Amino acid sequence: MSLALARKYRPRNFASVAVQSHVANTLKGAIARDRVAHGYLLCGPRGTGKTTLARVLAMALNCERRGDPALQGEPCGQCISCQRIWAGSASLDVVEIDAASNRGVDDARELRERAMYAPSGDDRYKVYIVDEAHMLTREAWNALLKILEEPPPRVVFVFATTEPQKIAQAAAPVLSRLHRFDLKRIGPAEIRERLAIVLTEEGVVFDDEALGMIARAADGGLRDALSLTDQVLSIGESGHITADSVRVALGLVPDEEYLAILDIVVERRAVDVFPAVQRLADNGVDFALILSGLGDLLRAQLTYALGGVPTEVPERMRVALEQRKSKIAAGDLLRMLHALLEMEPMFRRSGQPQLLIETLLVRFALLDRTVELEDILRGFGDGGRDDPPTRRVAHEPRTASAHALPLAPPAAIAMPVPRPATQQVAKAAAAAQLAHSASVPHTSTVASVTTAAFIAPPSIEHVRSRWSQVVETVRKAGRGMVAESLQRITPLEVTTHGAVLLGYAATDDTFARAVDSSRADVLAAMQACLESVTAFSLRAQTAPAEHVVRNNTRLTQADAQQQRLDQLSARDPLLEAAVRALDLELLN
Ligand SMILES: [Zn+2]
Repeated sequence: MSLALARKYRPRNFASVAVQSHVANTLKGAIARDRVAHGYLLCGPRGTGKTTLARVLAMALNCERRGDPALQGEPCGQCISCQRIWAGSASLDVVEIDAASNRGVDDARELRERAMYAPSGDDRYKVYIVDEAHMLTREAWNALLKILEEPPPRVVFVFATTEPQKIAQAAAPVLSRLHRFDLKRIGPAEIRERLAIVLTEEGVVFDDEALGMIARAADGGLRDALSLTDQVLSIGESGHITADSVRVALGLVPDEEYLAILDIVVERRAVDVFPAVQRLADNGVDFALILSGLGDLLRAQLTYALGGVPTEVPERMRVALEQRKSKIAAGDLLRMLHALLEMEPMFRRSGQPQLLIETLLVRFALLDRTVELEDILRGFGDGGRDDPPTRRVAHEPRTASAHALPLAPPAAIAMPVPRPATQQVAKAAAAAQLAHSASVPHTSTVASVTTAAFIAPPSIEHVRSRWSQVVETVRKAGRGMVAESLQRITPLEVTTHGAVLLGYAATDDTFARAVDSSRADVLAAMQACLESVTAFSLRAQTAPAEHVVRNNTRLTQADAQQQRLDQLSARDPLLEAAVRALDLELLN
C-alpha cells in the first residue's frame, strides 16, 4: 500500500462522495440539464468533502463523455481529462487556489487576468477552486465581484470555506451571486462504515472498536480518518488494526484513565484531580485530546442518565458507564458538559492547557449537586428535628474507609428516603421554603443525623473552643481543602439534639460546598473532638461571620499571598480553593 489511503480513495464521481448526497445530487442535476452556475460556495467543517466535490464538478464539466445520457451528469472517471483532474496533475482548466497563502492585491489582479483567459478548448470549462475562501482580502473579493457581475463564458468559481460568516462580513455582495451549499458534518458511524469498506478492499483485518477509535479521533473529517488509518498501519507490523495498535499509534488515552477521572468527580475527590492529570501529562498525552475525550465520556454518561444507550462507545466502556449510571444525575452531567464547552475556545488559546483541565475537573468535583425535592423538604425540617434518621442520596457522604474502595452503590448505604405525604403537603412546604429562603438567602440546612446514644449536647462555647481542633483533625486526614473551608466557618448554636448549626459568610459559598461535599468526614472529626455532636447543618449569613479569618495565623503570615488569593477569589472562588488545596498539599 504505497499510495496514501486518503488519496487513493478520493471519490471519482458524485455518487461516491460520502454523506453529502444533497449537494452532490444538485450539482449532478445541474450538469445533466446544462444549468451550471458561475459561482458556488461550499461551506462545512474540515474534511467534509468541499474540495472533493469541487474537483468532481470540474471533472464532470470537462469529461470527454459529457452529455452522455447514461452518465446523468456524473464524470466518467476514466477519460484522460477525468484522470488528470482527479490526480490533481497538470490540467490547464482547473486552477486550485489556496486563499490562505494567496491573498494580496496582486493575487486578486492576477486572478482577474487569468479568469479572462478562455478555457483550453471550445467544449471545456475553466474551474477555479478557491480553498479557505474566508481568507481572501476585501480587494480580492472586489476583483471577484467584477468577474461575477459579468462572468466570462464557461468559467466557474467554486469557493470552499469553513467560516462562511467571515465571507458574509467581507463580501456580502459576492455572496448574493453564489449558490451556497452547506455540507453536513460526517458522523463517527459514517466514518467507521467508510473505513470498513476501504480496509476490506485493502485486505486489512480490523477490530470494530479500533475503527470507532479512529473515527472519534478524526472528529468528523473523513480525510483525517484515512490519514490516521495510514498512521496506524505504518506503525503496526501485522497489518491487523486493533484497539491497542490505534491507541499506541495515535497516542490516545486509555479508557481506564477516563474512568478514573470520572470516579474522582463522582466521588468528589477534588484533590485527586492533580495527580490524575499529571499522570496523563507524564505520558505525553495531548490535552486537547483529553478535553474532547472527557466531552465524549460525559456525553455517553448523560445518555445513560437519560435512559438511553450510547452507540459510539466500546462495549467494555458501556458496562463501566452503566455501573455509574445512578451515581451522577443528568442535570449535573449537563452542567459539566456546558462548562466544558464554555471553556473550549479559551482552551485553544491558552498557554496552560493542563491548568485549565485541572481547574475544570476540580470544579466538577466540587459542583453543587442536583438536590432532590425530598432534600429540600428535609432541609426545611431544620436540623432533622421532625424527621426520622436519614441520609441524603444526592450528596452521598463518604466514610473514611471509602477512600480506598470503589464506590458502593448509594442504595446500599442510604437509608430509605421519606416521600412527602401528599402533593399538597409538598407544595405548601416548597412554598414555605421559598418564603423562608427569601428572608434568609442561601440557607442550606440539611439533616445529617446519626443514631447515637443520648449524651447531653456540648455548649456552643465548648464547640467554638474546640473548633481549631476539628479543623486540624480534618487536615490530618488529608482533606486540606475541607480543613481550609472549615476555618472560614463559625459554629452558631447547638440544638438540644446535639446538632450544630454552622454559619458561613454568604460570599464563602464555595467553602460551604466543600464542607457539604465531605459531610461524613467533617462529622467524624467533630465527633472525635466533641463526642455528643449528632449532626451539623450549614447556614449562610449575610453579615460576615465572627471569628473567621481574622484569627487565622497561617493567613497573616502571608499577607501578600492572601491578597493575591483574594483577587483570584473575586474572579473565581473555585480556582482559589484549588490553589489553596494545592498549596496545602505542597506544604504537607
Ligand atoms: Zn471522463
